[in-house]
Amino acid sequence: MKPIQMVDLAGQYARIKPEVDAALAEVMRHTGFINGPEVKAFEQELAAYLGVKHVIGCANGTDALQIAMMALGLKPGDEVITASFTFVATVEVVALLGITPVFADVLPGTFNLDPADIERKITPRTKAIVPVHLFGQTADMEAIMAIAAKHKLYVIEDDAQAIGGTYTFSDGTRKKSGTIGHIASTSFFPSKNLGCYGDGGALFTDDDDLAKRVRRVCNHGSETRYYHEVVGVNSRLDSLQAAVLRVKLKQLDGYAAARNAAAASYDKAFAGIPELMTPARSAQSDHVFHQYTLRVKGGHRDALKKHLEANGVPAMIYYPVPCHLQNAYRSDRFPAGSLPVTEQLTHEVLSLPMSTELDPEQLAHITATVKGYFNP
Ligand SMILES: *Cc1c(COP(=O)(O)O)cnc(C)c1O
Repeated sequence: MKPIQMVDLAGQYARIKPEVDAALAEVMRHTGFINGPEVKAFEQELAAYLGVKHVIGCANGTDALQIAMMALGLKPGDEVITASFTFVATVEVVALLGITPVFADVLPGTFNLDPADIERKITPRTKAIVPVHLFGQTADMEAIMAIAAKHKLYVIEDDAQAIGGTYTFSDGTRKKSGTIGHIASTSFFPSKNLGCYGDGGALFTDDDDLAKRVRRVCNHGSETRYYHEVVGVNSRLDSLQAAVLRVKLKQLDGYAAARNAAAASYDKAFAGIPELMTPARSAQSDHVFHQYTLRVKGGHRDALKKHLEANGVPAMIYYPVPCHLQNAYRSDRFPAGSLPVTEQLTHEVLSLPMSTELDPEQLAHITATVKGYFNP
């Protein structure tokens, strides 16, 4: 059996190597490393795939969040409501901009923001909501957009984990994840569903004026070279990464299908184990399985993780400490106990290997090892 990894980037590369290598060689030939033709071509191809007017590349997913907030004009004193059960990036950029992060709890099934708790956390200072589409499912955007419209708030979708997913509204309208809010951010970190071979990120929006402001922020706050209208940053998707992403974008739907096939065999294998709650599926969103995350009941999580690792099966805890209990972001407003679902999840979640390359032999070993812990 091939050794099992959380994500098999080498196996994935092997299947697209000729095309990737040719695309990289072309960049080496023309040497337009910054703002080369691949960047524009990728932005247009991703926009067409998503059905959104503008895709603007940037250096990484964390920058994308910060740039979105800068382009929207969020400023110190404003409040942004987001999840605490997430990767720290959202909270980090909010804090860097002097904005106040306000945490809403998540739903125990999908792990995505609970619209009812968002509404409870709105104050006169609230300016934006940042739903994080966690582990591959789009948050309840219909409810979130209705709350945002009622309270005149911006919605910034953090689409780093759900790119390629589809959300269905109650009237049957379907939209790609990341094209529903006013703006969205994503990451092309290598292990993401659409990953490059280094750092990369992008923003999506249908708003022409906002797209212009995003491009200006990314480019040192400048539209005309050496004239600076606003404070900006330097954040670019480089041509080599765009060249890789153009190849991988064509595979994205196939990659999601491979992830779903692995998830289906996990679901089937664990159906009879009462201590394991397999990932709930949202009624509105499909799942692109950035992670396959179990809830392990009865206090077995850490011992199960050790058992898996001892048998050649890596497993990860995303995320062990919620943002509101991180030393960098603690506040009196969100003491321990203030986000009960989030806190409970951090004690129960366990993510199994999930990639486009898991073969039947590896899946059989993983599921047998999990079952072996419960029925030794
Ligand atoms: C990966 C990730 C980010 C950050 O992306 P980087 O490209 O690593 O900066 C932000 N939010 C979420 C939810 C992520 O998973």
